[in-house]
Amino acid sequence: MSRFWSPVVQTLTPYVPGEQPQMQRLVKLNTNESPYGPSPRALAAIDGQNNEDLRLYPDPEGAALKQAIAKLHGLDPKQVFLGNGSDEVLAHVFAGLLKHSKPVLFPDITYSFYPVYCKLLGIDHKVMPLGKEFEINLVDYKAPNGGIIFPNPNAPTGRSITYSEIETLISHNKDSVVVIDEAYVDYGTESCIPLLRGTACPENLLVVHTLSKSRALAGLRVGFAVGHPDLIAGLERVKNSFNSYPLGRLAQAGAIAAIEDQAHLEETSQKVMQTRAKLVSDLSALGFKTLPSTANFIFTRHPGHAGAKLYQALRDRGIIVRHFKLPRIEEFLRITIGTDEQSGELVAALTEILA
Ligand SMILES: *Cc1c(COP(=O)(O)O)cnc(C)c1O
Repeated sequence: MSRFWSPVVQTLTPYVPGEQPQMQRLVKLNTNESPYGPSPRALAAIDGQNNEDLRLYPDPEGAALKQAIAKLHGLDPKQVFLGNGSDEVLAHVFAGLLKHSKPVLFPDITYSFYPVYCKLLGIDHKVMPLGKEFEINLVDYKAPNGGIIFPNPNAPTGRSITYSEIETLISHNKDSVVVIDEAYVDYGTESCIPLLRGTACPENLLVVHTLSKSRALAGLRVGFAVGHPDLIAGLERVKNSFNSYPLGRLAQAGAIAAIEDQAHLEETSQKVMQTRAKLVSDLSALGFKTLPSTANFIFTRHPGHAGAKLYQALRDRGIIVRHFKLPRIEEFLRITIGTDEQSGELVAALTEILA
């Protein structure tokens, strides 16, 4: 605490990212990174930018990357907004599209950055409790609101809702923006981006993506939002009032190549989904109850063993998972899907711990 902190800084409770331990030989299953490397084409494109041109500012608009994203998703480049990771995109979304007199609505159990942005930006919010099976009940979102946001699939539960449910939600919520955070969409969830194509594009739907998870580029910091050109224009106004150059030359070049390598994405996502199915069944044999997941992580608990104890016992064996000391979910572990080999080590460790 310092007397020079502004009043809002004194009241903040910042987001706590999952740890990035420096220990060697760790089975790291705590922050939902990909266990596979990025597209080799992305790595080559990044290498190609390692030259004297780094003295020059990058393209502030990221036009070539917007073009590549628009092409992949069947959109117009005017429907694409870029940011330094989707966390930055989300910050601009809260500031530019969700700050109104009515509260923003999101689930009680969800990405814990959302309430942090609300606090920083002075935005009123209201949490909508998930159901008994941790499902999102869309009827709850008929309440008056200044915006709605949730991840699909939700984090940290891994549960998803369908394309047609989102379509219905948008048509029932015409007076504010609905933001769907599709950070984990590539592991078996139907994306709602097709709703944005062509002249039928709704005025009030924004979809946020990241290259940090399925494209294995968490270290490069690239995220984007897609939606109606008028929503995007609002986000550009915020971005150009904050930082005109959020994406460097390496990031833009690497992201373009990664977006263009759909085969790499599909191959690695398939492997993650296969490993997930096997892990869920191995854990079930040990007595774990796992929520249905369409993400690259699972949310699981053991009726006979406390979440905090299991977390610590795994840690003692060099296996890091995520445990949240929060009401309703403190018995759960959130486990990132790694390689088959990492899953094997996890199951062996849990077998030993439970014995
Ligand atoms: C990981 C994650 C993000 C942030 O991703 P970055 O692009 O790395 O900032 C956003 N939303 C959710 C739900 C996430 O899990």
